Amino acid sequence: MRVVFLGAPGVGKGTQADRIAAQFKVAKISTGDLLREAVRNQTPLGLEAKSFMDQGKLVPDSVVIGLVRDKLGDAACANGFVLDGFPRTAPQAEELGNVLRSKQLRLDRVVNFQVSRDDVIKRLSGRRSCPKCQATFHVDFAPSKTGDTCDRCGEALIQRSDDRREAIETRLRVYEEQTAPLIRYYADRQLLSELDGSGAVDAVFLKLSQLLAPYRAA
Ligand code: AMP
Repeated sequence: MRVVFLGAPGVGKGTQADRIAAQFKVAKISTGDLLREAVRNQTPLGLEAKSFMDQGKLVPDSVVIGLVRDKLGDAACANGFVLDGFPRTAPQAEELGNVLRSKQLRLDRVVNFQVSRDDVIKRLSGRRSCPKCQATFHVDFAPSKTGDTCDRCGEALIQRSDDRREAIETRLRVYEEQTAPLIRYYADRQLLSELDGSGAVDAVFLKLSQLLAPYRAA
């Protein structure tokens, strides 16, 4: 199963990608997670990416394309993958097509998650993240048991710098300008499925797993 999750920041792509990856036994490739890991480890790539990320801007295509190309070659992708947060620009989408073609593979489906702008802002501004294991919580909708530490690993939760109000506005504008055109790009290639991402996590997961069931590896 080779799928892409498309949609604005905060629509729930990452949460659902974790669950789909576990259920369908495929790799989850999140460029946001890979970039945050590089920032944490202060690698040259992380140092280059950090200022773009803090401001809510996109990291240059060449950087993310390299990251994804490496990951797609991993044995973990043998059974398939869910791409979360990639591609985000037309050149990234073209390059993904090239990489897959060079491996004689193709995408099965692109799922476009739809959530209203108001809900996205509420989800992002209340989000709290674990810097260690990447688990996410929400101050109102999915609080951690203690309120400020991760239920999974005990680390102190943080608010991502790009989940602050000014960065959220930038991310939504960048999404409209650079990423939303990919909806048309994949619709033209008969790969697009729309998904209402506005309900509870379990309800969205149920719809999504039904949508993706035909692509489960034999
Ligand atoms: P995310 O966790 O997917 O919201 O990504 C967090 C940040 O990482 C984004 O706001 C961008 O700065 C950067 N990023 C993640 N994926 C990409 C991508 N495909 N292209 C460019 N920048 C990205």
